Parts: sequence; structure tokens; C-alpha cells
Amino acid sequence: MKPVVVIGAGLSGLSCALHASRAGIPVLLLEAKASVGGRVATQRTPNGFLVDEGFQVLLDSYPELDSVVDRAQLHLQCFHSGALIYTGDTLQVLANPFRHPGELLNTLSCSAASLKDKALVVGLMLQSQLKTSDTPVGKCTTLQALKNYGFSEHFIEFFWRPFLAGVYLDNELSLGADFFKFLVRCFGWGKVCLPEQGMAALPQLIAEQLPAGTLRLNTSVAKWSADKVWLASGEIVEASQVICAGSKPPHGTPSEPPFRSVTTYYFTSPELQELSWDRWLILIPQTLGFTISHMALISSVAPSYSASGKPLLSGSVVGKKQASVESVMKDIEKVAGRALNLELVTVTEVVQALPIVPESSPEGFLKADGVIYCGDRYTSPSIQGALKSGRLAAESLLVESAD
Ligand SMILES: Cc1cc2nc3c(=O)[nH]c(=O)nc-3n(C[C@H](O)[C@H](O)[C@H](O)COP(=O)(O)OP(=O)(O)OC[C@H]3O[C@@H](n4cnc5c(N)ncnc54)[C@H](O)[C@@H]3O)c2cc1C
Repeated sequence: MKPVVVIGAGLSGLSCALHASRAGIPVLLLEAKASVGGRVATQRTPNGFLVDEGFQVLLDSYPELDSVVDRAQLHLQCFHSGALIYTGDTLQVLANPFRHPGELLNTLSCSAASLKDKALVVGLMLQSQLKTSDTPVGKCTTLQALKNYGFSEHFIEFFWRPFLAGVYLDNELSLGADFFKFLVRCFGWGKVCLPEQGMAALPQLIAEQLPAGTLRLNTSVAKWSADKVWLASGEIVEASQVICAGSKPPHGTPSEPPFRSVTTYYFTSPELQELSWDRWLILIPQTLGFTISHMALISSVAPSYSASGKPLLSGSVVGKKQASVESVMKDIEKVAGRALNLELVTVTEVVQALPIVPESSPEGFLKADGVIYCGDRYTSPSIQGALKSGRLAAESLLVESAD
């Protein structure tokens, strides 16, 4: 029996291959690179740090997660729920009152948000629990929705914009508001985590569940049709169905979307240990003229990211703007309010980080010229979106075979 050939072992291709194999469908998963995971990648630096290629987090409340891994095996380490907001001279805590009731007084006195803003956040969180969880992107932009909810300009600039720019990699917050509501539910009621062995542990764990012989690494596909793929090596593989889960659809069909970019700078310094940034995400409003929009003391959240026990800090610059290491260091020291003697660990620049998805496809995948295309661009630009699109593509095979 000819296998279903899945091109690309990013999260969508892995999810597709896993769900199809579980249904008894023979699958061949072809990946151009030497490892699985695609845009979810982790490096180990020569000085023993784990660094994710672009600051990236896993929300343990993503509905697709449990269908592809036993989350206990990820040994998730969690951020605090909420953020430290830099107001120009101080860092103020805005904590999730349901998760950190001990921070309630500090949260109430946070000047970045009015009492109305704080009440609106709680209202949004409660509202998000009533809605069924799903991830359509939606037409109204997130920025418009925030204004419609009645949030103050000040709170949008000091909290929502830096927070969501870190998630969307888009300072304009132009992604559809339905996805925003879904995120409120995930961030508000779930945990924001890093796996013990880095973000790459997620695709790795999915790959380990595939039947032997399913995955071929270092196998680049040059072109494909509905029932055949031509490898770069010249080999031709016959397929019962071809599913393209590569991030770039070929031959201009369907057309390739533009991507959002991010550059993440990783630093170490013994002096970082003296800061009380703990396990908070730190938000930096762009109106204050900084290049970085968010940072985190990764080694406090996930001690496993530092084999030597030395602190590891990440700071991210959203978009294509170029920032020198010196200017990023200056930003960090300004927020810290002191010199830190930072030492650069590495810089990861991801030019094609998130596809710009104006509106997700209703099926969560696309069929064109007999080829099934899946990936985050067909659902939402996220881990949840990629896993879901892969599952839906696999399920469409079952529907077809039942017909
Ligand atoms: C810096 C960054 C930060 C992010 N932050 C978050 C976050 O915090 N939370 C969140 O939920 N999501 C986040 N995301 C988004 C999430 O990682 C992606 O949405 C998801 O990984 C996309 O998976 P995919 O399978 O659709 O595509 P990809 O990961 O791009 O997978 C495509 C795969 O296909 C392979 N391929 C391509 N062409 C070929 C070919 N011709 N032959 C063989 N193989 C091929 C590629 O090598 C790759 O492995 C982030 C992404 C980045 C880059």
C-alpha cells in the first residue's frame, strides 16, 4: 500500500503524521533538516545554556497539547501569571488575581492600569471561560477590539501592546480578535511554560511516538503533486496522498504569505541574580523609546536552561528593525536601574517567524490541485494552530476513505 507522504516535520507535519498513523494509515514523513520541529528549535550553546531559537513559550492550556504528548514528560516549568510592567522609572507588578492572590495589593496599586482597566481584564477572563475554546483568527483586529472593550490608551500602550506584540510579533496588533479572546482564556486560566529540555522537546516527543520507519530526516522534497513527490536527491516516491506541511507552499500555489520577524538576545551575568525579576515576564512599552519589547530571566523560570546555574536573560526585538547588542544591553540596564556587566550568550534572528494570517480557512487546512496543505497559516500562527491544522488534515483522510 502506498503511504500518505507528509512533507515537513514541523509541528503540523508531526501532528498530521501521528494522528494518521494512529488511525492505521501508513505514513512517510519527509523533513529537509537534520532534526524535527521546524520553527520550534532549541540550541545548546558551548557554555551550556539551552536557548530557544526565538523566545517562545508553551501554553499548557492549548487544547491540542494532550492529543499529541503526555505533558508530564515535558516537565513543564512555569512563568508567574501576569507581568512586570516598566513604567519609565519602576517595574510594577500586574498579577493574575486568581493565581497570585498574595500580589493583590501590589496589583491594585499598579499605576499602569486604572481601576476600570483592571476590572475589564477580570471581566474578559471570566467571559473567556464561557466561550468554547477554538482558534479562528477573526476579522476585527485585536487593537480595535481592545478599544471597543473600553481599555484606556495608557493601559493598551503599557500592557496590551508590549504583551501581545510578543505573542503576535506585530506591534500593530492587527491579528483578528477571535484569536485574542482564545489567548485570554489560555493565558488567564492556564500556565505559561517552558519544557525542561527546551521548546524542541515538544516536537521531539511527538516524533518518538511515530511508528519505526515513518520519519526520514535530511530529505528535501524538490516538487510534488497529489500522489507523487520528487526528492532533491532525484528519488521519486509514490503516495496515496501528498500532504504539504512545509512552511513554504511551492510553485506559488497557494501564494506564500508574508511573515513577521523577531530577534532574541540572550545574556548572562552574575549580577542578574541580584534582581528580583523572578519568574515574571517583563513588558517594555514602545512609547518609551526602547528597542526591546519584552524580556525574561529564563533561568529563574526554567533552571534547566542553565547547566552551570549561571543566570540566563532573554530580550526580544519585534519586527525587522535592527538593534545593536550594545543598544539592547543599554535598554536592559535602564530597566534594571543599574549596570549589569552583561555578557552576550547568543542572538537568534528569525526572519520568517509567524505567517501573517488575515483569516484562517474554515477547514483548518487547504486542498489545492489534489494536494492537502496544512500548517499554522491555515488556523492561527501558534503551536496550537499548527497542531490543530495537522490533526484536521489527517482527519480529512479518514473522511475521504469513509466516503
Ligand atoms: C520565534 C518564534 C516565536 C514563537 N512563539 C510562539 C509562542 O510563544 N507560542 C506559540 O504558540 N507559538 C509560537 N510560535 C509559532 C509556532 O512555533 C509555529 O506556529 C509553529 O511551530 C509552526 O509549525 P508548522 O508545522 O506550521 O511550520 P514549520 O515549523 O515551519 O514546519 C515546516 C517544516 O517543513 C520543513 N520543510 C519545508 N520545506 C520542505 C521541503 N521542501 N522538504 C522537506 N521538508 C521541508 C521545514 O524544514 C520545517 O521543519 C513562534 C514561532 C517563532 C518562530
